[in-house]
Amino acid sequence: MINYRDTMKDKKRVVVKIGSSSLVHPETGNLDLIKLERLVRMLCDLRNSGKDVVLVSSGAIGVGAKVLGLKSRPTTTSLKQACAAVGQGQLMMVYQKLFSEYHQDSAQVLITKYTMADDTSRKNAKNTFLELLNLGVVPIVNENDTVATEEIEIGDNDTLSAFVTSLVEGDLLILLSDIDGLYTDDPRVNPDATLLHQVDEITEQLLDMGKDTKTSLGTGGMATKLSAATIATKSGADMIIANGEKMTILNKIFQGEEVGTLFLANKDKDFNLLDYMKE
Ligand code: GLU
Repeated sequence: MINYRDTMKDKKRVVVKIGSSSLVHPETGNLDLIKLERLVRMLCDLRNSGKDVVLVSSGAIGVGAKVLGLKSRPTTTSLKQACAAVGQGQLMMVYQKLFSEYHQDSAQVLITKYTMADDTSRKNAKNTFLELLNLGVVPIVNENDTVATEEIEIGDNDTLSAFVTSLVEGDLLILLSDIDGLYTDDPRVNPDATLLHQVDEITEQLLDMGKDTKTSLGTGGMATKLSAATIATKSGADMIIANGEKMTILNKIFQGEEVGTLFLANKDKDFNLLDYMKE
């Protein structure tokens, strides 16, 4: 029997998504700089080992709200967009400072649903990604929250990162979250819930399992992670959901340890990204 965990070290193009809850101190909502530093160091090391790396980072709205001194997460579209404009810049400043400490170039790529839905825009975005990867740059991706309103937004970075994985033909997507992986039930409610280490096929029953499990911050819950898993695996990539509490989890993944939940690639030759765009 193949031990799929042993194949993680051979992945060539890896997309890592970090959620808002893994980026900040839970007590204050301020950026957890030590964690970010560790994340960036790990990603630089993956680059040093010869892999292409793409980072999908949330946090623009939350960071912006903090910088602007708001007491709670904004609710109106214009305030959210203003926060994203401030926060995205701040996030990039921190990321580029940290990446440059390891002499690693990084770039900002902001995407809307339109980028993915329109054939020409999607092709251009793909070419840009491939050019950046060719140049050895780490693209740092987020949704363009400053202009994407409800009608044209992808809405959550789990889905966005799966779209990006498909676009760049990545062979592994890692979702770093505040949960250890996919459980048979919500572990916060049911103490008998057990962690699934490997999912060979995404079934209706499995999609049901994740339906109500929320993570604490950000817009993604288990449901968006499972929909990301469907997109990523059908486009030919493995996907892992793992707990981003400790960034050493990335080491463990590439050393073949059985951490998180691994969803095996199940390439669908008829896969069409447009089928997965929410109306
Ligand atoms: N794009 C949003 C942000 O950067 C995050 C979306 C999400 O949490 O999935 O604030």
